[in-house]
Amino acid sequence: MLKFLFNLAVIIIVGYIIYVKFFKKPKRVPGNQNEFKKMDSSVMVSCDKCGTFVETNDSIAKDGKFFCSKECAGVK
Ligand SMILES: [Zn+2]
Repeated sequence: MLKFLFNLAVIIIVGYIIYVKFFKKPKRVPGNQNEFKKMDSSVMVSCDKCGTFVETNDSIAKDGKFFCSKECAGVK
C-alpha cells in the first residue's frame, strides 16, 4: 500500500513537470521567435542612393546604410 502511494506521488510529480514543460515553453519561445522573424524579414528600408524600398534581407548593408543593389552600394 505504501509503495502504491509512493508510485502515485512519483506519477503526479512527473506529470506536473511534463505539464509545466509543455505549457510554459511553447508560450514564451515561439512568441519571441516569431517577433524576431518578423523583425528580420519584413523591415523595409530605403536605398540610400536611389530610394527604392527593399527588405533588409534583400538589401546590401554598407557603412551602416542600406542599398537596393550592388550597383547602388558601389560594390563591384
Ligand atoms: Zn538603389
